[in-house]
Amino acid sequence: KPTVIITIGMAGSGKTTFVQRLNSHLHASGTPPYIINLDPAVTHMPFEANIDIRDTVDYAQVMKQYRLGPNGGIMTSLNLFTTKFDQVLSLVEKRADELQHVVLDTPGQIEIFTWSASGAIITDAVASTFPTVVAYIVDTPRCAAPATFMSNMLYACSILYKTRLPLLVVFNKTDAHPGGHAFAEEWMRDFEAFQAALASSAHRDADGEPTYMNSLMNSMSLVLDEFYSHLKSVGVSALTGDSIGDFFEAVKGAREEYFKEYLPELERVT
Ligand code: GDP
Ligand code: MG
Repeated sequence: KPTVIITIGMAGSGKTTFVQRLNSHLHASGTPPYIINLDPAVTHMPFEANIDIRDTVDYAQVMKQYRLGPNGGIMTSLNLFTTKFDQVLSLVEKRADELQHVVLDTPGQIEIFTWSASGAIITDAVASTFPTVVAYIVDTPRCAAPATFMSNMLYACSILYKTRLPLLVVFNKTDAHPGGHAFAEEWMRDFEAFQAALASSAHRDADGEPTYMNSLMNSMSLVLDEFYSHLKSVGVSALTGDSIGDFFEAVKGAREEYFKEYLPELERVT
């Protein structure tokens, strides 16, 4: 059975570029993936998807017809597409014997997929049919500030608890940050290093005391410490292709985790 990779991440984190990179890497190694595009609003897609939401729903038309703004239009398009998702799955199942990877690209704005019924329906449908892993894409240069880093990790944490699926954190755009994602690795490994970074960027009140916000962040980073200890992460550049091999190595481990942890739980509750 192929492994399904669901890419999730903030707008602009590089999901589509990453999917393109996986695509060219796998083509080069002679095992082309099956690609499903779930972003109805993508204008430039550098690859040909096997299944493309845009072939089924016209996002601009949906906006007009239902008098919606851009986000409502994307959400409604995804809902319409989800009603036919069983057909999508049977297409993938027909090809399952010859495939090693199925890759899903999701809409630019993260919450459209992570906080919608259709996102949950699609994720559950896929994960109950194939071994599935979530690739959480992070814009590394943009989370070099401790507070931004932490809110991004909290989001990853919420996705882990929502989907219960094996989660790989992919620090993308390492080419665009001096030292790559080394700072992130350090912050996740060494709680005190993160606290120190937090303190040096701390907001202090008139008496020189750290603000409420800082104490809050301190306590939250303690919670995250537990999350990090189970977390697998890789640093890559979707742009240059650097370390993409590491990502596929991590996917193998995540696939094992799916069979060891997710599947037994699924079988227990169904
Ligand atoms: P999405 O909204 O998550 O699908 O993000 P896109 O794939 O559309 O990428 C957003 C922007 O980030 C584009 O301008 C990409 O060229 C850029 N980008 C994506 N990956 C990388 C990377 O690894 N390095 C650099 N420097 N830029 C990247
Ligand atoms: Mg995209």
